[in-house]
Amino acid sequence: MSPRRTIPYVNEEVANRDFKYYIFDWDDNILHMPTKIRMEHRGEDGVWRPVDVSTSTFALVRADEEHYRAPPGGWAEAFRNFEDGPDRDNFIEDTIDALERIDHGEKPSPSFNTFKKTLVEGRIFAIVTARGHAPETIERAVRLFIKYALSEEERETMMSNLRGYRQWLDGVGEGEFGTDAEELDYYLGMCRYSAVTYSGFKKRMADDPIYKEKLATATTAARPELAKEFAIRDFVEHVFHMLQRTGELGRSVAIGFSDDDKGNVKSVSNYIKAELSKRFEGIKFVVYDTSDRTLSKGRKVCVSGQLNLPGF
Ligand SMILES: [Mg+2]
Repeated sequence: MSPRRTIPYVNEEVANRDFKYYIFDWDDNILHMPTKIRMEHRGEDGVWRPVDVSTSTFALVRADEEHYRAPPGGWAEAFRNFEDGPDRDNFIEDTIDALERIDHGEKPSPSFNTFKKTLVEGRIFAIVTARGHAPETIERAVRLFIKYALSEEERETMMSNLRGYRQWLDGVGEGEFGTDAEELDYYLGMCRYSAVTYSGFKKRMADDPIYKEKLATATTAARPELAKEFAIRDFVEHVFHMLQRTGELGRSVAIGFSDDDKGNVKSVSNYIKAELSKRFEGIKFVVYDTSDRTLSKGRKVCVSGQLNLPGF
């Protein structure tokens, strides 16, 4: 057995790193969740019958209006399981279920390991999902991910990296660090959790002068994609202001986005090319299509910006 690597209390090496951030879709990108969408399917006999559809199937059939449609009660009813319920903690229970299946040998989703690495390295990230949960619910699920998917050594490495960033960027000195729980709270508080069909998110979007106008002219079908755009812009601005505050904007910055839904991948790629890459010229954007489960990290589909970082 090789001796256990000693993990420093504060990893000062983080000050030599590039700034690399990630935006993750949740379902079938980080985790295969058991949550089902309630739909209706038209059989060979032309009769519509209720059917429960997984999120991965939904990504494939959502445009097939000839065979799939919303149940009576509309899309709100179809996605009832994707919201925080008064009687059941859907997202938390389904996250535990998905993590336990991986523990029992199920193959993880394409971005599972990238998400894990992001956490261990202590990098800021955003979760952007079409779900309707409160940000606190998603943050709780991320805490479960840390508890289940990271080994004790990986969690220790994460804490060492987090203290490294606090020392480098916030000037926290020796003896000034909070407890592990406090430092983890601080880190997770810097990340963003955007469920775009959550009422609070929708309100924020409707209050934004630019998106208020975009929403007014958008078709119903284009709205979820607009919402993802809004969440992405929000995160990129957050990262930009954070770097501005620390005075470290001269360094190379890259932001990755991964999603298993080809429709989202396409619209986000277009949005990056048309708007974000022009507004944030120094930032490199990379989009990963993770719809092919046989590829371990997905397929790089869109790269924008001049910087060329190793590892991206
Ligand atoms: Mg997905």
